[in-house]
Amino acid sequence: MRKKLTREERKIAYLKEAEQLYDNMETWYDQNPDATFEEIETELRLHRRQLMGKSLNILINDREDDQQPQISCPDCGTAMRFKGRGTKTVIGIEGDTTLDRTYYSCPNKCEGTAFFPSG
Ligand SMILES: [Zn+2]
Repeated sequence: MRKKLTREERKIAYLKEAEQLYDNMETWYDQNPDATFEEIETELRLHRRQLMGKSLNILINDREDDQQPQISCPDCGTAMRFKGRGTKTVIGIEGDTTLDRTYYSCPNKCEGTAFFPSG
């Protein structure tokens, strides 16, 4: 498990990633001074996708556990219990990230498992 961060720490972590992206673009432009606008945009798009993946990771995975919602069993409505942790790699529209997920099951032994974050 990653270390959990406060909201302020997550913001700092995100800004650090954004700063790194900008520095990388500056370096790339120094090395490719003749690049056309289209080439610059194409390069930035690749960096943006990486940044989006990283920001999703910070936003979702670095959040404290006590901010997770109470999940009720879809069958009987009872509060579900912690079952374990796992990961899932999500290929998003704007970025890819590996989610740390918490899994829940119903204490009444209803079928199915819930997980957070969903999706
Ligand atoms: Zn149930």
